[in-house]
Amino acid sequence: MHRILRHALVMTFDVRRVICQSPRPELNAGKETMNPLNALAATDPDLVTMIAAEEARQFYTAKLIPSENYASCAVMEATGTVLTNKYSEGYAFKRYYEGQQFIDQIETLAIERAKSLFGAEHVNVQPYSGSPANLAVYTGLIPRDAANQRILGLGLPAGGHLTHGWKVSATSRFFQAAQYGVDPTTHLLDFDAIRAQALEFNPAILICGATAYPRVIDFARFAEIAQECGALLVADMAHIAGLVAGGVHPSPVPHADAVTTTTHKTLRGPRGGMILCKQQHAATIDRAVFPGLQGGPHNHTTAGIAVALKEAATHEFRMYAHQIVANSRALAEVLQAEGLPLATGGTDNHLILFDATALGATGKQASKAMDQAGLEANFNSIPFDRRSPFDPSGVRIGTPSLTSRGLKEAEMAHIGKWIADAIRGREDANVLARVRGEVFDLMAQFVPPGFVRPYPERP
Ligand SMILES: *Cc1c(COP(=O)(O)O)cnc(C)c1O
Repeated sequence: MHRILRHALVMTFDVRRVICQSPRPELNAGKETMNPLNALAATDPDLVTMIAAEEARQFYTAKLIPSENYASCAVMEATGTVLTNKYSEGYAFKRYYEGQQFIDQIETLAIERAKSLFGAEHVNVQPYSGSPANLAVYTGLIPRDAANQRILGLGLPAGGHLTHGWKVSATSRFFQAAQYGVDPTTHLLDFDAIRAQALEFNPAILICGATAYPRVIDFARFAEIAQECGALLVADMAHIAGLVAGGVHPSPVPHADAVTTTTHKTLRGPRGGMILCKQQHAATIDRAVFPGLQGGPHNHTTAGIAVALKEAATHEFRMYAHQIVANSRALAEVLQAEGLPLATGGTDNHLILFDATALGATGKQASKAMDQAGLEANFNSIPFDRRSPFDPSGVRIGTPSLTSRGLKEAEMAHIGKWIADAIRGREDANVLARVRGEVFDLMAQFVPPGFVRPYPERP
């Protein structure tokens, strides 16, 4: 029952006893199981109960949220170490505290791995997450006294991120922000329109990248537009970093002045952020992160990032990235066959945005029904949605997590059918319970990374 203790304590006492389970159950037979350790239970049993419940939830539900994933045991062990005890303001070999010899090695290792994996000239691994990374880049690239403080990014309703200048984000408070959209009929980025708007608005920074865009992003085309209007190009690859690392999405790195990313989405690391940039921007961007916006880096997270980057450089990870897209395409086909229209008519990446109203449900009703049926997703505006963002027409799903568990195209057929069943049967408790049972049965056969025996009891 106190499964969490393995992660909480293992690293202090018995690192070698953690056995990472393969997502393929047949490979796990006979492997040693972990001894639950009890420090957290002794200190805070209430918390342990809550974490154990969350573990069971994550184990048995089909996690379809495209921005989530399952970090490996190795990543989680790294994040649960004594590295959390250390202050390291500054950068390697230029710190404001003593005792940095090992921290410097760890941060340098993470940086070197990121540079080599993505072919970047300069990397900063200190941003606390994706949003702070974006603010740091804008702050670094736009001098305080510059006449031009304008940023132009994809609007939230069209699939952009809050931090691309959306009105409730601080990025629109500190900079003059405008937003481009997508084509009203194809839902695709319309580069002629973006070019025209960029030439008219004349931004200091053109931002590309998205949080709900199911197609390949043409970073080279964005670079041309940025160059033509004299803007710097920032590419936010938070959602697709793992696809870029795995070679199934073109890289923004050669095209953009700076690339930001989270580390916990398709890249499958701990929660964190990174900035990759051209050498000419290295100093200003580093200064914007620290001391501009942040204090001490989260060294335990940096270590987890280093592990994730090592994992992402393997052949297995390339296969993983390919399978994410293969699964996404397979799932998209099933959903369409079930009568659910997809934004842009399909997918090229890990993400699918479907219009639930075709089955008579709002996005909120659909995602609620799916949740009751063990299918975890989030409601989302579709481009040119007539409904409010609080109860939009769409549901956003994706395949990174299920693919991490080892599910393939054959299982996507079930998942797609269950999604449609849950939405159609949203008012029928029997249907929702039946689907939930089937989802849990299937999930129990595909152990996620990061879970070791004994597995959680079925909730
Ligand atoms: C997730 C995401 C972010 C923000 O990341 P947080 O870690 O949640 O701050 C930024 N940009 C894009 C495109 C994202 O998808």
